[in-house]
Amino acid sequence: MLYIEPESIVSPPGLLKDSAVLVDGDRIVGVGPTSAIPCPTGALRLEAGGLLLAPGFIDLQINGAFGSDFTADPHTIWDVASLLPRYGVTSFLPTIISSPREVTTCAQKVLTQGLPAGFKGAIPLGLHLEGPFLNPEKRGAHDAANLTSPDPSIAASWAPAGNVRMVTLAPELPEAIDLVRTLAGRGVIVSAGHSMATYEQGAAAIEAGITYGTHLFNAMPPLDHREPGLAGALLADPAVTVGLIVDGIHLHPEIVALIWKLKGPNRVSLVTDAMAALSMPPGTYRLGERDVNVQGAEARLPDGRLAGSVLSLDEAVRNLVKFTGCTLLDALSTVTTVPASLLGMESSRGRIAPGCIADLVLLDSNLRVVQTVIAGSPYEL
Ligand code: ZN
Repeated sequence: MLYIEPESIVSPPGLLKDSAVLVDGDRIVGVGPTSAIPCPTGALRLEAGGLLLAPGFIDLQINGAFGSDFTADPHTIWDVASLLPRYGVTSFLPTIISSPREVTTCAQKVLTQGLPAGFKGAIPLGLHLEGPFLNPEKRGAHDAANLTSPDPSIAASWAPAGNVRMVTLAPELPEAIDLVRTLAGRGVIVSAGHSMATYEQGAAAIEAGITYGTHLFNAMPPLDHREPGLAGALLADPAVTVGLIVDGIHLHPEIVALIWKLKGPNRVSLVTDAMAALSMPPGTYRLGERDVNVQGAEARLPDGRLAGSVLSLDEAVRNLVKFTGCTLLDALSTVTTVPASLLGMESSRGRIAPGCIADLVLLDSNLRVVQTVIAGSPYEL
């Protein structure tokens, strides 16, 4: 058993002081006042004085990190997963960008084979396939040669059972709406992105089953007062969650604050969209088949276009607090309860409550990660 008595527990429904969490195996079995939940004899007591305890972070879009790119080599998912807990990430969707069909199949297989023996790290919850059904005009760092029109035969195995959890597509492409319906019907989260959709096309796609917007405002037309476009449709619908890259580069801080007023805290999900250079020195790194030049906090193609980020998820949370002045609980919900609910895993992940998987993060008062617990096991950072 594992016993944690932090300064505060930060999880819905609010902030708990003078409370403790008890873990048995991989599950949380008790949460409440220390008078009601004493430390059982023989339990491992985690040093947590002065720290905040939050649910483990979930990243819905990450392309790679620590020098590895999931699209260039899907087998690197485990190497990256073993290091992500240092950023508070306890589960994630490895993201495969537009690529030849074999790459997606290989990535599905990597996850289907399950955790390697002795694996310790963040748990992949299934793939996020970003492409290949994207609009060439908004391809960003995706290779135009890998883009194609929606094709149900390519997507035949895309389902949670085939380890595909999320698909980003451009809903204005021919036959896209049919594919949205098919995928949503299988339980895949379908997201709109890398798109030139008009407001009307966006609204129709939401009607058909789109529930998420991939990196809102990036790789889509800006909001225009006569043509709200896809961004307008995603912002206008209260049921749609938007993914944001809050690194201060992909979105101006004031735009983040505006989006927050419209969508926060229950419909904003922070993602990193991190690429291989996360946690690495400046230089040239792979993203799919492209070389990306990384200097400081920016990852760009030779023509200057942004190509993923070098943002970590804990830094995104700190930036959100800075840019919006939101509460700690609301900021943390964007990387815990919101993604967990979107994935349909709200009863097992994203909260600190009895019965939930014991994925936890201890943070200091500056929201720096001090310790991560994955499925009940403390992880050495
Ligand atoms: Zn993208």
